[in-house]
Amino acid sequence: MQYEVVVGLEVHAQLKTASKIFCGCSTKFGAGPNTQTCPVCLGMPGVLPVLNRRVLELAVKTGLALHCRIAPYSRFARKNYFYPDLPKGYQISQYELPLCEHGYLEVALPAGQAGVNGRIKRIGIRRAHMEEDAGKNLHEGLEAASHVDLNRAGVPLLEIVSEPDIRSVDEAVAYLKTLRDILVYLDVCDGNMEEGSLRCEPNLSLRPIGQKEFGTRVELKNINSFRFVQKAMEYELRRQEKVLREGGRVVQETRLWNTEKEMTVVMRGKEEAHDYRYFPEPDLVPLMIPKDLIEEVRKTLPELPDAKRERFVRDYGIPVYDAEVLTTSKDLARYFEVCVEAYPQPKTVSNWIMTELLRELKAGGRQIADCPIPPDRFAGLLKMIDNGTISGKIAKTVFEEMYRTGRSPDEIVKERGLVQISDAGAIEALVEEVLQAYPNERESYRQGKSQLLGFFVGQVMKRSQGKANPGKVNELLKSKLGGEKK
Ligand SMILES: [Zn+2]
Repeated sequence: MQYEVVVGLEVHAQLKTASKIFCGCSTKFGAGPNTQTCPVCLGMPGVLPVLNRRVLELAVKTGLALHCRIAPYSRFARKNYFYPDLPKGYQISQYELPLCEHGYLEVALPAGQAGVNGRIKRIGIRRAHMEEDAGKNLHEGLEAASHVDLNRAGVPLLEIVSEPDIRSVDEAVAYLKTLRDILVYLDVCDGNMEEGSLRCEPNLSLRPIGQKEFGTRVELKNINSFRFVQKAMEYELRRQEKVLREGGRVVQETRLWNTEKEMTVVMRGKEEAHDYRYFPEPDLVPLMIPKDLIEEVRKTLPELPDAKRERFVRDYGIPVYDAEVLTTSKDLARYFEVCVEAYPQPKTVSNWIMTELLRELKAGGRQIADCPIPPDRFAGLLKMIDNGTISGKIAKTVFEEMYRTGRSPDEIVKERGLVQISDAGAIEALVEEVLQAYPNERESYRQGKSQLLGFFVGQVMKRSQGKANPGKVNELLKSKLGGEKK
């Protein structure tokens, strides 16, 4: 029997605010334990939460970008459960009346996995709602004890729940990457999985192909990188398939990804919604979102990655692949555009960015924002190749030095005497030198071994330390040797 994969993803994105969702405590990452807390986020009796307006704006912004309907009336709810990192004994979330519903995300699938709409597949967004994060239990280095850090308690989250429209691990990863790109473009979340500001909990099940009803699903937790998302899902689907093939039954439960053992292990039986005894949060008034607020937020929406990609292909005439690479981050896209403004040859700029620049950045683990070469200098370097000041080969050397020192290309070229030799007299002298030095090769060439031309060009370039204009060297060698050819 063949099985079909059914995946839905729950993503928790930490909204980028300076303070927490219901109090004024800082959300900064990395502070000492319990230094960013107050009676509200510690769950002291008698305190009252007040909604951070910025959280609402960022949530609406995200909802709009995900094509959701923004509810004119929504409400917070208490989700009740007991855990040491949850001081109130409940989490303030949204349940029956979430802020955003009925949206979708369009995902470009890897080649050969055509979706409904060519390479693009539309994945439904069931809902996106605001909630507060819980604290963190620390066990490391402690024997028979745990410590609780409540700095995260009350940090604003947007929980984004997809429909179970995803049909493979690759689709799930593509969805997650696309969603992260959008959140980062919107500047609502920094997208950092390692620091926990983006967390992903896949629901996975299998069903016989052709069956309408979904199989029993398992939820995965504790995944903190894209690589692990992929591995964890692949492992879990293999596990479920084995259970089914052996005539067993998949149990509805929550499993944890164990990074060391590279397997999923049972965490707890899966709760149903009623286990949480949701009820409306009495300490917060229902949210009435006026139309003008939505329109105001809509005006702040930036150009999103897919629109930017299309525009790059259309306006700059670069291949789709280049456009995909250049739009992976807003900063990289801007860098490209500023370069092209100063040096209007988009494909050349794109080639240099995608090979030389990205290689250096990757090697040093840097982001484009920390690039030591400002775009106008980068364009300046390309101009120097164009006007014949330096050869393309020398330009790579100059580029490396620019990257290392942050200096301008003119300075480097002048100081190191890298200006290209285009003067016919100077090149002729070098050509003569080489022809004198290799009488045997010259004889072979004369006998018809014309592929030796490359050898002579190489020798001249070497003697000029790469500075001779290769076009001129070629020309001159051909005419000199041509006269000798039988
Ligand atoms: Zn607080």
